[in-house]
Amino acid sequence: MISIHDLQFAYADGQFSLKIPELQFTSEKSVVIIGPSGSGKTTLLNLMAGILPVPSGRITIADTAVHTLNDSERRLFRLRNIGMVFQDFQLIEYLNVVENVLLPCRIHPSISLTADLRRRAEELLNSCGLKPLLQRSITLLSQGERQRVAICRALLLSPGIILADEPTGNLDPVNSERIVRLLLEESSRANATLIMVTHDHSLLPLFERIVPFTQFLEAVHPETSRP
Ligand code: ADP
Ligand code: MG
Repeated sequence: MISIHDLQFAYADGQFSLKIPELQFTSEKSVVIIGPSGSGKTTLLNLMAGILPVPSGRITIADTAVHTLNDSERRLFRLRNIGMVFQDFQLIEYLNVVENVLLPCRIHPSISLTADLRRRAEELLNSCGLKPLLQRSITLLSQGERQRVAICRALLLSPGIILADEPTGNLDPVNSERIVRLLLEESSRANATLIMVTHDHSLLPLFERIVPFTQFLEAVHPETSRP
């Protein structure tokens, strides 16, 4: 269960603000958010993940009132509950492919690296077609390969919530569908909720619920909704 109420957020330079009166995900296990570039989709995922603090309003995720947490509490909440696929991947360039996927174990306060987790990392990479690249440096990968590494990293610890920010943005149609099916399968196996942002309309039918982000734009810029 994820609920957002009266959320208002603005970047410090005042150029962009986001206003979401109400948005709830109750029983849906797969949600896709679609909307124009620059409309605040990444900002919303960062607020839900606790990367950005919530300045006004409420975000409650799995019984945690994220808006009440301080910086270190939000970080811990994220490590324990959220698998994040960043739009810009955020891979560590001095680590190889499998080490990047195993990174959540290194930074998690109570999970240590076991043979089982190493095997899981390898299996995830295998299912993304990256088996031959396990030991390769991140700097030698294509954008699409980096994106798939970022997805494996988000899935490693079977988080309850997977937030995937345009995870197919750099992939061809065959790999796009393969990756979305992997995200859906893994989230269903972990009984997790998958919230994915995309521009790709062909992927929408794979999801239980479609959220058009434009509804929030109209709340922020009412003039855009006038004829
Ligand atoms: P989307 O993911 O829908 O493309 P974003 O959430 O990335 O949109 O960005 C929404 C708006 O906020 C854009 O106009 C972007 O330029 C602006 N923005 C994003 N990050 C920052 C930041 N750190 N500081 C100031 N403005 C930002
Ligand atoms: Mg974005």
